[in-house]
Amino acid sequence: MVDFAALRQKMVDEQLKARDIRDMRVLQAMNHVPRHEFVPPELQHLAYQDKPLPIGENQTISQPYIVALMTQMLQLEGHERVLEIGTGCGYQTAVLCELAAYVYSLERFALLADRASTTLARLGYDNLDIHVGDGSQGLPDMEPFDAIIVTAAAPSIPGPLVSQLSPNQGRLVVPVGDSKGQHIYIVQRIGDKNKVKRTIPVRFVPLIGRFGFRDDGNPPPATV
Ligand code: SAH
Repeated sequence: MVDFAALRQKMVDEQLKARDIRDMRVLQAMNHVPRHEFVPPELQHLAYQDKPLPIGENQTISQPYIVALMTQMLQLEGHERVLEIGTGCGYQTAVLCELAAYVYSLERFALLADRASTTLARLGYDNLDIHVGDGSQGLPDMEPFDAIIVTAAAPSIPGPLVSQLSPNQGRLVVPVGDSKGQHIYIVQRIGDKNKVKRTIPVRFVPLIGRFGFRDDGNPPPATV
């Protein structure tokens, strides 16, 4: 039998603490969520390695460090309403459920959304709501959000997501760039002003949608 708890502790020590993950709550959450439950059975033994893995529909579960880093950037304290774009297998969703009051998550593939819902329910998470749809447009019915995280690459910062942030220091974390590579951006909304910060280079699967890339992977035609 594989000792998943020991592998998870090792992941936290060697991949997160040894780098720049300092938020104790993030470290605790990553030590608690059983990442192997979110990957296909034949890949469970690789679940705690320092890399992304395939989860079906041509999509991937992000590398643990990137999940930790983006979550740390959200600066969650426990009382927040969070919006996640790109549910995928639901692993990042579980980490957010541990750290915030309520999580809304949007996924464009119904199959992935269903599978993630099942896994999260089986593990006892009940402070979340998964929707199927185009997350590049956000979830206007439920705004404002204290924090928004996008786990797919956008060609530019999606406007609807910024406008759905709480004016009281709402923050958005989103990878922005082209198909070759992106950088993680942090947008912080203070009143009607936005503070934008570009951080580290990353590589994500594309955000496909109205304010993302087109289905063929190209950005939408420029509007004049
Ligand atoms: N956080 C996920 C990462 C999944 S990869 C995890 O830990 O598993 C990115 C996900 O974004 C994919 O599941 C993809 O289908 C989804 N996605 C891409 N464009 C989207 C859009 N416009 N709206 C919602 N989900 C989208």
